[in-house]
Amino acid sequence: MLTENDRKIITDSIREIPDFPKPGIVFKDISTVLNNAQAFGLLMDHLKERYSNQRLDFVAGIDARGFIFGAALARDLGVGFVPIRKKGKLPYTTVSEKYSLEYGFDEVEIHIDAFRGVKDARVLLIDDLIATGGTAFAAANLIEKSGGKCVESCFIMSLDFLGGSEKLEKIAPVYSVLGEA
Ligand code: AMP
Repeated sequence: MLTENDRKIITDSIREIPDFPKPGIVFKDISTVLNNAQAFGLLMDHLKERYSNQRLDFVAGIDARGFIFGAALARDLGVGFVPIRKKGKLPYTTVSEKYSLEYGFDEVEIHIDAFRGVKDARVLLIDDLIATGGTAFAAANLIEKSGGKCVESCFIMSLDFLGGSEKLEKIAPVYSVLGEA
């Protein structure tokens, strides 16, 4: 369990950059969590504790910040890590899923054999932040399409006013470590 003090240490380590990458967006910079050994350690210890008894087979991380937390957690749990990437980055045969953005659409992909043939593989989806939920919703669908079962989606923080978690709950339970960012 995270104490209030632990939670404060992690929250305080997130740097906010106003108007990045465009005016009106407050960007939550997690590079200042990663370079803070105490904050990063508290966060990873918490995730390890939460997920060590959930019989996970894989952790799947979303391009790109989900790779950092996801790979570290997979290693801590002794399970495999699977990258879910933006279109065109994965070299082998992929399954893909499109999702809408404010203007236009984007696409994420997973390798067709990502779960190594494990039947109904129990997969944890992870990313740094859920905003509208479009990316995570597509990623969770990809897990299901490629033979896995998304047992939970985990985020370090959430922008709850955008309704992403609510949308994603329709596929799998959602956990946000720090809650509303
Ligand atoms: P969405 O699909 O709208 O939920 O957007 C989620 C993705 O965009 C995640 O991969 C986040 O890392 C990134 N993202 C969205 N909003 C922010 C923000 N304010 N600060 C940092 N990253 C963000």
